[in-house]
Amino acid sequence: MNQFIGIEGGGTKFVCVHGSNPHDLKDRVVIKTKTPQRTLHEVIDYIREVQKKSLIKAIGIAIFGPLDLDPQSPTYGFITAAAKPNWGNTEIVGTIREAIDLPIGFDTDVNGAAIGEYRWGAARGLSDFIYLTVGTGIGGGAMSNGKLVHGAMHPEMGHILIPQDTSRDSFAGVCNYHKNCLESLATGPAMEKRWQVNSAYELPPDHPAWDLEAHYLGLGIANYMLSLSPKRIILGGGIMQQIHLFPKIRAEVIKCLNGYLKCEKILNHMDDFIVPPELNENSGICGAIALAEESFMNSSLHIIKNYEIA
Ligand code: ADP
Ligand code: ZN
Repeated sequence: MNQFIGIEGGGTKFVCVHGSNPHDLKDRVVIKTKTPQRTLHEVIDYIREVQKKSLIKAIGIAIFGPLDLDPQSPTYGFITAAAKPNWGNTEIVGTIREAIDLPIGFDTDVNGAAIGEYRWGAARGLSDFIYLTVGTGIGGGAMSNGKLVHGAMHPEMGHILIPQDTSRDSFAGVCNYHKNCLESLATGPAMEKRWQVNSAYELPPDHPAWDLEAHYLGLGIANYMLSLSPKRIILGGGIMQQIHLFPKIRAEVIKCLNGYLKCEKILNHMDDFIVPPELNENSGICGAIALAEESFMNSSLHIIKNYEIA
């Protein structure tokens, strides 16, 4: 089987593996996210070490954004803005390619998780679905008509604006840009600040925090359903480890839609519509492997086409 390297880049850690699928993930190494220069240097060292013992065909990188994903753009493969201090305007793809001559697949962390679930997990065979992570941030990767949605840039699903009933919840939010976007109101840090706990993990299942959380996520998901018409929504991330949230969210979605959508195959099977990831914590890293595989296929196709022309 072809061997690839998958890199999942997050705000606190970069996870690197090599392999070919979820059952073949080797040499998992976790690199702490430091400055871009030091972190990418360690990632390159990892790749070189793996190359000493295995023939690697391509690299896949699924990383936090915002990213430039337009192959025609002079800043393709960059993290563009400073979502994390020091990381704005950082060239990722070019830096790695300069050191290692292999095809590189590149996408957002959540598109990575989405493609991982599409290839091997809860979205197999689905042309339209969303992977949403609810953790330190909220972000979504969407597939529409069998293709990951990129558009002008890439979706930022965590920042959709949410009606906040301030008589029920007067929390000021945690997003620096929006008082009442989904991320502002419903991430782990939002829950922790609102309810003054160190981790949302400390809140017992019967705490009112979870009803409010389900309400906000239900509003967000109803909006995604109305705009993208997904066939399934996969909810991952630390907060969704609280599995008692799933039935609450399903009920809130039905409430928010208020009978408008008449799609029986979804509404009568909500257990099958809003689901946890099948790859658990490996969605992103498997997605990075899938991105590598895709870039390898594309580069092989490119070589064949050039050969035919010549
Ligand atoms: P990240 O988003 O940084 O990749 P996570 O998806 O684990 O990481 O999200 C971290 C957030 O989720 C933190 O706010 C943390 O307190 C919260 N969290 C992590 N695990 C749990 C859990 N089992 N139950 C509730 N909250 C959790
Ligand atoms: Zn926001």
